[in-house]
Amino acid sequence: MRRAGRVVHLPRGECEERLVRHHGRRAGERRRGPRGDRPRHRQLLGEVLTGEEGFRMSRQQSPVSVVILGGGYAGVIAANRLRGSLTPDEATRVRVTIVNPTDRFVHRIRLHEFAAGGEDVAFAFPSMVGAGVRLVIGTARRIDADARRVVVETAVGPVVVPYDRLVYAVGSSSAVGRVPGAAEHALPIGGLDGAARVRDVFAAPTPPARVNVVGGGPTGIEVSSELAEAHPATRIVLLSSGPVGAALRPAAQRRIVRGLRRLGVEIVDHARVASVTPDGASLENGRFVGADATVWAAEFDVPTLARDSGLAVDERGRLLVDETLAALDDPAIVGAGDAVRPPDSVAAHLPMGARVALPMGLAAAERILAELRGRAPEPLSIGLLGPSISLGRRDGYIQPARPDDSPLPFAFTGRLGAAIKSWVCRMTINDPRAELSRPGAYRVRRGPAPRAVAAREDARV
Ligand SMILES: Cc1cc2nc3c(=O)[nH]c(=O)nc-3n(C[C@H](O)[C@H](O)[C@H](O)COP(=O)(O)OP(=O)(O)OC[C@H]3O[C@@H](n4cnc5c(N)ncnc54)[C@H](O)[C@@H]3O)c2cc1C
Repeated sequence: MRRAGRVVHLPRGECEERLVRHHGRRAGERRRGPRGDRPRHRQLLGEVLTGEEGFRMSRQQSPVSVVILGGGYAGVIAANRLRGSLTPDEATRVRVTIVNPTDRFVHRIRLHEFAAGGEDVAFAFPSMVGAGVRLVIGTARRIDADARRVVVETAVGPVVVPYDRLVYAVGSSSAVGRVPGAAEHALPIGGLDGAARVRDVFAAPTPPARVNVVGGGPTGIEVSSELAEAHPATRIVLLSSGPVGAALRPAAQRRIVRGLRRLGVEIVDHARVASVTPDGASLENGRFVGADATVWAAEFDVPTLARDSGLAVDERGRLLVDETLAALDDPAIVGAGDAVRPPDSVAAHLPMGARVALPMGLAAAERILAELRGRAPEPLSIGLLGPSISLGRRDGYIQPARPDDSPLPFAFTGRLGAAIKSWVCRMTINDPRAELSRPGAYRVRRGPAPRAVAAREDARV
């Protein structure tokens, strides 16, 4: 029933049948049919829930719709903390919906392992989100903040999803658009499709003799070391515009370079890629580095959804939010994860990364819970533990840090480093799951005191 060219306001019953997976309805929860839902649908779109008064459950008992755009780390942990924290009474009135382009959660921080031939890193949503969290499979195309609704592109055409509170958690992807030829010829490691293409290249009857990996940050380091270890017959060349691991302290850079070389990775550093062709990469210094395939692990871009919707964004298109994660334009929109930029006073030390997306997702859920219960939302406070970088399966570099992410003068390396990194990866997926049954299980280290300093621009890449 695709109706091309116009937006369809699907009756909620039809929405449930075709688009929405309602995971594990609780005993006693009735599946709503088209007739039973109509008055509620009208209520959601009408005057009752359009203002702050309408949102506060302490003031009135109407249903409340919390819609989460993006089922990544931030979105999933926000959904589970929110749903898991509701009292039985609140749970009957608060509906939590995730909008995500696919019905699978992608464990992005292990995509390099998958690309190198490792186990699957995409899990069906029922294994990630709990009872009562609904999933709309589709891509949000436009947020209408005035009308509090989102237009979602789905398999049956555009659908309007109304909300009372919106969590903007649409994440990031590889930035292949900035260098000529990269979009056409490079394989972006930042998403499942790109990682699957890298995997296919190595699984071909004639595996590649040479592969370039572009990006000398943690992601490029992890990708090149993983590929080199899993495919020793292929020559892996890491291309870095500056020193490898530029955001890390010099001792860390030296140790990581030793680890990469031990795995056979060739390093071409201090040379920016100017263009990519099917047979390699041209550098700005005039050198050409030939390769059968080029993997892109340099820089992340964020979706243009906030910008396209007329919301205030920074120069990279990240939604601008206040110290409590509310969008500057509209407090009914709460942001979390890579696609969001909180003010430097609370977030100057926060890079893009899953280790930030998870606590931000929790903070977004806590903000909404506070509002539901008539409390003032707290300012963001995230203390970090330091970056952890794998160097294949048997080596790693774990940099313990102060809450502001400044490094302590020691590190865990070798097999211990690899074991800690594996544990971090397991916890990055177990923590969001645990939130549903044990809300509060995920403890966030307190952040540094709020201050006004220059923003940190080095993304995780
Ligand atoms: C190979 C690799 C290794 C990494 N390793 C680490 C690491 O060790 N530590 C670390 O901290 N970080 C790491 N990262 C970075 C980390 O994966 C990201 O920072 C993290 O995924 C951001 O989480 P998020 O929840 O903001 O977004 P994401 O995990 O990107 O999730 C966003 C979700 O929103 C969906 N979405 C996008 N647009 C829309 C839309 N319009 N409508 C609806 N849904 C939408 C996406 O499909 C996705 O499901 C790594 C990244 C890569 C690629």
